[in-house]
Amino acid sequence: MKADPRDQQRLLDLQQIDTIAAQLERQRSHLPVLAKLDELAQARMHAQDAVVTAETEQGDLERELAKAEADVQLVRDRAARDQAHLDSGKGTAKELTSLQHELASLTRRQADLEEIEIEVMERLETAEAALTQARSTLAAVDADVAAAIAERDEQAADLTGRLAEATAPRATVVGELPADLVALYEKLRASHGGTGAAMLHARRCLGCQLELNNADIARIRAAAPDEVLRCEECSRILVRTAESGL
Ligand SMILES: [Zn+2]
Repeated sequence: MKADPRDQQRLLDLQQIDTIAAQLERQRSHLPVLAKLDELAQARMHAQDAVVTAETEQGDLERELAKAEADVQLVRDRAARDQAHLDSGKGTAKELTSLQHELASLTRRQADLEEIEIEVMERLETAEAALTQARSTLAAVDADVAAAIAERDEQAADLTGRLAEATAPRATVVGELPADLVALYEKLRASHGGTGAAMLHARRCLGCQLELNNADIARIRAAAPDEVLRCEECSRILVRTAESGL
């Protein structure tokens, strides 16, 4: 392939634009805040799980408490009926004595059930405190997530702006270059880690950093200035400049 030496050197400008653009894109996709957001997503999942667990625990205890209260109420109602019966004085002496025994037994039963009720109430209080704590942890994680998202958006917007600025002249540069030279450059850039054209600097290919041997240098010296050269090592377009050491 042949191309005007000035066009070959201009290809280095294009490479410079593309290298800077690739750096900015890499920076944008590897923002430290993105790793932080991943960690926060994990933390949020755990905090959310803790809230669900605490809510379930609270709900279970509320049902347990309602049952304990109903149990106590049943015994109270039964005792009230017995007491009313006793107070009425109706029935045989044997029946009234039996009622008195039952009342005494109900009183003991009520005391036992009330103890259970108090114990459930205490457990419910503990569960409610745990739920409050879990919700507050979740709210704190949510606040951290919101802050990290704002930070990410700000940094990404800044890099997107710098990227637009850096690549603004690209179309003009491409437009000024021969299409076949640009096509070869793009093909090599895509397959060679983002670098399609490299300067020959002090006998070294700046694409692969290898120093050319004397035979290669002799071949390059003999080549016509408009011959598009390729590095023997990395096959990138090798651009001669005043600093090539030829
Ligand atoms: Zn090379």
